[in-house]
Amino acid sequence: MSAHEAAQVRVSVYEHEVKALLSEAGVPVPRGVVGRDLDFSRAAELAEPLVLKAFGPGLVHKSDVGAVALGLSRDELEAAAAGMRARLDVAGFLVEEQAEAGVELIVGLVRDPGFGPVLLAGLGGVWTEALRDTALRLCPISEEDARRMLASLRGSSLLYGRRGGPPVDVDAVVKLLMTVGGPGGLWERLELGEFELNPVIAGPSGVIAVDARYLPSPEPAGSGTSGAATDFLPLFEPRAVAVVGASTTRPNFGNMFLGFYRAAGIPLVAVHPSASEVAGVPAVPSLAEADVDYALVAVPAERCAEVVRQAYGVPFVQVMSGGFGEAGRPELEAELVEAARAAGTRLLGPNCMGVYCPRGRQTFVGGGLGPAGSVALISQSGGLAGEVIKVGERRGLAFSRVATVGNSADVTPAELLRWLARDPQTRAVGLYLEDPRDGRELSEALRSAEMPVVLLVGGRTGQGQEAAASHTGGMVSDRRVWEAVAEQAGAVLVSSQDDLIGVLAYFQAHGSRASGADGVLVVGPSGGASVLAADAFDLAGVRLDPLPGEAPDALRGLGVVASGNPLEVPVGPLGRAALVPDVIAALLRHRAYRDVVLHVNVQAFFTYGDAAEPLYAYARAVAGAQEALPGTRIALVTRNGECAPAGVEDEVRRIAAAAGIPVYRSMEAAAVAVAAGGLYGAA
Ligand code: ADP
Ligand code: MG
Repeated sequence: MSAHEAAQVRVSVYEHEVKALLSEAGVPVPRGVVGRDLDFSRAAELAEPLVLKAFGPGLVHKSDVGAVALGLSRDELEAAAAGMRARLDVAGFLVEEQAEAGVELIVGLVRDPGFGPVLLAGLGGVWTEALRDTALRLCPISEEDARRMLASLRGSSLLYGRRGGPPVDVDAVVKLLMTVGGPGGLWERLELGEFELNPVIAGPSGVIAVDARYLPSPEPAGSGTSGAATDFLPLFEPRAVAVVGASTTRPNFGNMFLGFYRAAGIPLVAVHPSASEVAGVPAVPSLAEADVDYALVAVPAERCAEVVRQAYGVPFVQVMSGGFGEAGRPELEAELVEAARAAGTRLLGPNCMGVYCPRGRQTFVGGGLGPAGSVALISQSGGLAGEVIKVGERRGLAFSRVATVGNSADVTPAELLRWLARDPQTRAVGLYLEDPRDGRELSEALRSAEMPVVLLVGGRTGQGQEAAASHTGGMVSDRRVWEAVAEQAGAVLVSSQDDLIGVLAYFQAHGSRASGADGVLVVGPSGGASVLAADAFDLAGVRLDPLPGEAPDALRGLGVVASGNPLEVPVGPLGRAALVPDVIAALLRHRAYRDVVLHVNVQAFFTYGDAAEPLYAYARAVAGAQEALPGTRIALVTRNGECAPAGVEDEVRRIAAAAGIPVYRSMEAAAVAVAAGGLYGAA
């Protein structure tokens, strides 16, 4: 059966039945009558012009098959109906009053497989697919969500009546959106499936839903979230750890972990069926005999459940091994979860790497522990987590806690996020996700987290659900749902590992700085770089306001022309290192800025000689500016850093970091971080 046929078979609620439901819920619909035969005498009570619509099991997109006739008089109904009956398999007819023309909107609901009911609203009618101008939110929406959805449409001016046309009753549209997707709305009562009002005609004196489509589908079984909240502290700071699976003869992953843990200096025991020690680490025959807070299991998938069943009294077990759900063996994964429940332990993974927490001597990466800090990371990919730790530390990040969760069969990203959001050691959280498992739970955890959360999502396809029978289904893609999740929660959605690190570095440095001001000032050498800086910020959604009116006078004494924002100030090996800080100080006397972004062309310091010292002097002057302006968020962009000899960039970064300044290698990266910063603690 094709997707289209499947959709047709699923049609079981006819338009007039959906409209009855709508009317009851308070959504205006046209007055109409339904006839199974060709007797339209009951249409006498309706005001002309009339609309005739045929319905039947195969009639999904009615206008496509000629099952809608508009602008009819009563006298014309019989003939129009006979024509439809001759061509189509008709179960009956709906005759209704024709609403006055207005702005045609689409309002729809679908159940996203990860996040549950999603509301879509946008420009509708015959142009729906061509315009694809819609906004998405997870249900329930707030009234503010509804207004922001409408305002975000490219064609929003049609609603607000800017082009001379009469404005639309936006409050009525908002009320309709709330009735469909708000608290206690239709989304709670419908079995989604798909539900769509297309079009809703909006005019100056209200809205009316002239078409309604509802394709029920049985609700998926609830995932049944766990009971009491778990304290994850022993996961990150265990008293002692056990490693299951290291070999006395053939070194494997388990042996590698024994090495990491030994180097980290945490009390350690190996679990081995026969040996009394493995690679110099004392061994016990079973987890039941290990007095530890955390066990890492690295044995073949088939044997994991048996190992986990012995984990009485061990609060956390991490199963590193793959070969479960991700390899098409969900039954092995279910058995593993069952074993963890039976042993009373919480399971991380399977198919992950481990936990990293310098404070707790927890690790899964070689090369020693980095500094303890305030940035947390939850990752469904162990490999990516390792990269973010190593690259991030190189770029100055210091981690509070990192957990890899792989398939998230038991402990989910949402559950960890809730705990981390209350962890006194953590001030910002990064998340790398591929399949959130319980999307609704995750979106609630995101909404309730009050600290900055940065999301990187892998596998966000832009494609809507293929089998969708409604426009709504076809326009709800993974990418758009994640955008809605982030928007509703006030979380930052980034699109690369580099931006994940860059935005986390921004929050690490500036998370608690607040000047009470908004606005971004960009300062650096003149020319194309300044022009491109403006473009980079524009692309990231950050507007650079003009300089304050006092700028020309304030800067004249320093010999600087108030060229605009970005402000062009010479920065180079021959210039005065403190010129830029002096310029900032002079300007900020007249207007505060939330962010000041300074850029420098590193190449200019090295092409004609080795001028590392002037570059360091500049960095020190910038550091001094940050110390003098504790509420202002300064960022430094070191463009063309590859032209500097080895070690120079690290030294610049070190000088900046000591003053709490994040350093970026491109304007684009800085712009993404500064834009993200606008979501938190602006004032
Ligand atoms: P379809 O199944 O093709 O989506 P609709 O019921 O939406 O059929 O009708 C097609 C178009 O006809 C609508 O987009 C709308 O412009 C117009 N229309 C349908 N019913 C009415 C009505 N009662 N009043 C005004 N216009 C209507
Ligand atoms: Mg329609």
